[in-house]
Amino acid sequence: MNVIIIGGGAAGFFAALSCKQHHPQTAVTILEKSDKLLAKVKVSGGGRCNVTHACFEISQLAKFYPRGGKQLKKAFFQFNTKNTVEWFESRGVKLKTEEDNRMFPVTDNSQTIIDCLMREADKLGVVIKRGAFISAISKKEKQYILTIGGNKIIADKIIIAAGGSPKIEGFNWLKELGHTIIPPVPSLFTFNMPTEPIKKLMGVVANPVSVKIKGAKLSSEGALLITHWGMSGPAILKLSSWGARELQAMNYKFEVLINWLGDKSEQAIRDWLDSELQNIGKRQIGNKNPFQITNRLWSYFLEKNEIAEETPWNQLKKKSLNKLLNTLVNDSYKAEGKTTFKEEFVTCGGISLDEVSFETMESKVCPGIYFAGEVLDIDAVTGGFNFQAAWTTGFIAGKLGSGST
Ligand SMILES: Cc1cc2nc3c(=O)[nH]c(=O)nc-3n(C[C@H](O)[C@H](O)[C@H](O)COP(=O)(O)OP(=O)(O)OC[C@H]3O[C@@H](n4cnc5c(N)ncnc54)[C@H](O)[C@@H]3O)c2cc1C
Repeated sequence: MNVIIIGGGAAGFFAALSCKQHHPQTAVTILEKSDKLLAKVKVSGGGRCNVTHACFEISQLAKFYPRGGKQLKKAFFQFNTKNTVEWFESRGVKLKTEEDNRMFPVTDNSQTIIDCLMREADKLGVVIKRGAFISAISKKEKQYILTIGGNKIIADKIIIAAGGSPKIEGFNWLKELGHTIIPPVPSLFTFNMPTEPIKKLMGVVANPVSVKIKGAKLSSEGALLITHWGMSGPAILKLSSWGARELQAMNYKFEVLINWLGDKSEQAIRDWLDSELQNIGKRQIGNKNPFQITNRLWSYFLEKNEIAEETPWNQLKKKSLNKLLNTLVNDSYKAEGKTTFKEEFVTCGGISLDEVSFETMESKVCPGIYFAGEVLDIDAVTGGFNFQAAWTTGFIAGKLGSGST
């Protein structure tokens, strides 16, 4: 049997290694269109490669995927974060967990992951060809014919691990096989706020905040970072990921509603202030910020509501207090446009998950063709989840539906 793997990225390599592990007699070839292998692994995680996430509970893990979580949950029973850690550690790559549960090689160098995958491929006899661009696939009885430039090659089975595409035309060759393509749209971006003066506080972090999008059922919690352009940080990135399609439909013009005090309600803060007023009443409001927000942000809120910093707390007019409380728990900012988060171009969309069996990753439309990685309509928030999806789907695809473990 000969198996062709299209794409020399994380998912393609993992699929090739799994295929050789489960089917040692099979000839496995990775065909990569560019001259670079594992290019995204190299630049991932700021050059450190955030391999996976220290979340070892399958139902929790699945919740980090705005698209694909339900299907991946099934797949994680075959290969999950624990298996990823064991897989790399048993091949000499020790991983460490950072405070926010992201996992990296202890070397803090993505080359360690690349070296490990290349070494394994070499050891198991995976053939790798670069500069091999597959432009079409057609079926011939039980086999498939791949077109590479003017050449044709025959495969018994194919694993497609060709990654995502920001344009739907990039999937035409897969559409021609009869697959439904979910149109790609950007996911994981920061919000531009060209008209909002809060940008002057760039660098300020508020944590935790609750963020909502007006007119949409989208909300998130976490840290928010004010930037040159608008807002970023985990709370915003999570919203951009979960709301990828809705925000695109709004043409990236929407209103962001922020509770700067996380989950605290206006009434809870009023009650708390009533009881605290005897202690802080005589102090100047500018000097006594009773909340865990930075002084720069606090001064900005006072300025926004035209409250003089020297005003003692107990002389604050009712109207001013109401305005200040409204700013704290129900602040509103206009977003117009988006910016890519660092260099992480993540798009949602790709091969429709309805047409793939997550027991085997085999296509329901073209038996003998398997899918792995970002080519599928799967994507996640940042934190190592996108690679985990690549390792999981690659590992399962490599079994070709009949592996032993
Ligand atoms: C800058 C950056 C940083 C990131 N950091 C992280 C991180 O730290 N942690 C994390 O979990 N995720 C991260 N991600 C996301 C992660 O890199 C991807 O989810 C993952 O690489 C997807 O792997 P893949 O193998 O499916 O696709 P890819 O890595 O895109 O590989 C697909 C390969 O297929 C080749 N190919 C495509 N079409 C053809 C064709 N027709 N014929 C032959 N070859 C073809 C491509 O050239 C490519 O090499 C990052 C992404 C970026 C852009």
